[in-house]
Amino acid sequence: MLLIKNGRVLDPASGTDAAVDVRVDNGRIAEVGANLDARGGEVLDAKGWIVAPGFIDLHCHLREPGGELSETIESGTRCAARGGFTAVCPMPNTRPVNDNASVTRSIVERAAAVSPVRVWPIGAVSQESKGEALAEIAAMKEAGAVAVSDDGRPVATAKLMRQVMDYCRSLGLTVIDHCEDVSLAAGAVMREGPASVRLGLRGMPAAAESICVARDIQMVELTGARYHVAHLSARHSLELVRDAKKRGLPVSCEVTPHHFTLCDEDVTYDSNYKMNPPLASRDDRDALLEGLADGTVDAIATDHAPHAPSLKDVEFDRAPFGILGFETALALALEQLVHTGRLPLMRMVELFTTGPARVLGIERKIAAGETADLTLFSADHQWTYRVADSPSLSRNSPFDGRSFRGAPMATVVAGRLAWKR
Ligand SMILES: [Zn+2]
Ligand SMILES: [Zn+2]
Repeated sequence: MLLIKNGRVLDPASGTDAAVDVRVDNGRIAEVGANLDARGGEVLDAKGWIVAPGFIDLHCHLREPGGELSETIESGTRCAARGGFTAVCPMPNTRPVNDNASVTRSIVERAAAVSPVRVWPIGAVSQESKGEALAEIAAMKEAGAVAVSDDGRPVATAKLMRQVMDYCRSLGLTVIDHCEDVSLAAGAVMREGPASVRLGLRGMPAAAESICVARDIQMVELTGARYHVAHLSARHSLELVRDAKKRGLPVSCEVTPHHFTLCDEDVTYDSNYKMNPPLASRDDRDALLEGLADGTVDAIATDHAPHAPSLKDVEFDRAPFGILGFETALALALEQLVHTGRLPLMRMVELFTTGPARVLGIERKIAAGETADLTLFSADHQWTYRVADSPSLSRNSPFDGRSFRGAPMATVVAGRLAWKR
């Protein structure tokens, strides 16, 4: 039994914003109300903190199996708990690729043994994510996969996209795409524009992303399947999603904290500024901020992408794409979205909770009878992110040493403290 006292409950599902206590029993929320009694259970004083539904990260890379030099399910999920996430969705681009039920099961079983938070794997669209034959999607769903994607690369062809959408519509699974026209992106290491010219680095145009988004949305029109754009970074892509939503299509999208915080002008030869999609133009970043405010964007997702120092600390051209994300996501959202006055706190909470839940076709709320997954955070706590202190096996963050106002304070999964500051 656990009683969370003196917090401010923010629940986007019901619109609740109130100073009430939450009592948890047997992994579920037993009671929500004023001045609740602990009934002999443990008391957690949440004075000055916000009590939100458990954060869900739709997009991360835990690197296990096959990439344990950079991260493991254990090290990655410890970072996730410190970031306030109660559930994370690892992408299937492991070695072997998560394209069949035995890999899915091994991830779920490993997570059950070592992870403080829930791990909801995303299965591959195609075998080995090669873009040819479909993966064992129904069997992976049975084993615990919550969506499908060939992340790391796009769903290779329109034909394959049509096939997987037809299949996933009947299974009730969302198809997630890493949108990239590979012919336009080939060889590029950052976004094409004045910044890439100045640095002398090969750039990819914004259209490399939006062309693929346009293709996919036309496949949604053909099939009626639920479709989600991963790490959307460009203004034109966002406009396509906004238009599709207006027409009632089951289309959603996520944005990462690095894409709404940084832009291509921030890129240096430091490989911690190399990610895919690359940091976009200032105008694109402004568009993302508008989309986060007006409801076009459904979720903030980290794309936590650890790479061991031996792999990442090389010349910009040779370094792999991606940066760490779990531990700085909430602090960056508060810094860029809430403290600037762009978004009300409730909307930011929605982007970490009910928004991603909707993408997966599930619910998230704080009410009696619901699973007791809760994220407790402070919008004011002053701290400095030190990547050297992270439980991650990697160190690739451009935010090392950045000082923040606001941080996760405690992560509750199934009624138990998964982590506390
Ligand atoms: Zn991707
Ligand atoms: Zn990714």
